[in-house]
Amino acid sequence: MGFPVFICFFFMLLFQPVQEDAYLEKREAMVQKQIKGRGVKDNAVLEAMRTVKRHLFVPPSIAAEAYSDRALPIGYEQTISQPYMVAYMTEIIKPNPDMKVLEIGTGSGYQAAVLAEIVKEVYTIEIVPEHGQMAAARLEQLGYDNIEVKIGDGYAGWEEHAPFDAIVVTAGAETVPPPLFAQLKEGGRMVIPVGPVYRTQTLKLIEKKKGKAVTRNLMPVVFVPFTREEQK
Ligand code: SAH
Repeated sequence: MGFPVFICFFFMLLFQPVQEDAYLEKREAMVQKQIKGRGVKDNAVLEAMRTVKRHLFVPPSIAAEAYSDRALPIGYEQTISQPYMVAYMTEIIKPNPDMKVLEIGTGSGYQAAVLAEIVKEVYTIEIVPEHGQMAAARLEQLGYDNIEVKIGDGYAGWEEHAPFDAIVVTAGAETVPPPLFAQLKEGGRMVIPVGPVYRTQTLKLIEKKKGKAVTRNLMPVVFVPFTREEQK
């Protein structure tokens, strides 16, 4: 019994660094081609995309696909966003080390990890309990002590930690939830896909200026729907 276990362990030790290196190369290629190549310039964002091991945020069976140029299924009909979209949405909120950011739609926890590499605190809400629990465990295991995960309907935001310097919504909402805008700091930025369910939505940047929403349409996108607690 002991011998095969030993052999197994030996091979694990032997092959793991090789695989890690392969992912390091893939990650660098992802940053160069998909992210820098499409115009993301913020160095902190590029560095965060280099640092966070995306392959640890997808089901192990598709780890080899983690750095490809697309969204990937993570179970329960949800997806981890395309790497470029994560980088773009991170850059557009102008992240800096003093910021407190709210994310709606934790999913795998990847976007939260990328944000947490740059900003001071990340609060993230997930409506599917299985995802929320898995992401929270994964983020803790990876040593992120500046991320808090809550399970619930993100429509109401997270009042006790408000106001936020920025809000990143990673599910397609039909309209901008008013509580989220209310919890945005004066001068703060919210990035959110808005549009009909399962159709092309518009990624919008909403800035709070003198209490009013100043909106810019950024690009057409397709995100999984923003669901409500009652509809589950
Ligand atoms: N940011 C994620 C990807 C999110 S996919 C990542 O990096 O992996 C969108 C997520 O939003 C899904 O997990 C979905 O369950 C969640 N979601 C949808 N509606 C929500 C709501 N009202 N409140 C919180 N989370 C919601």
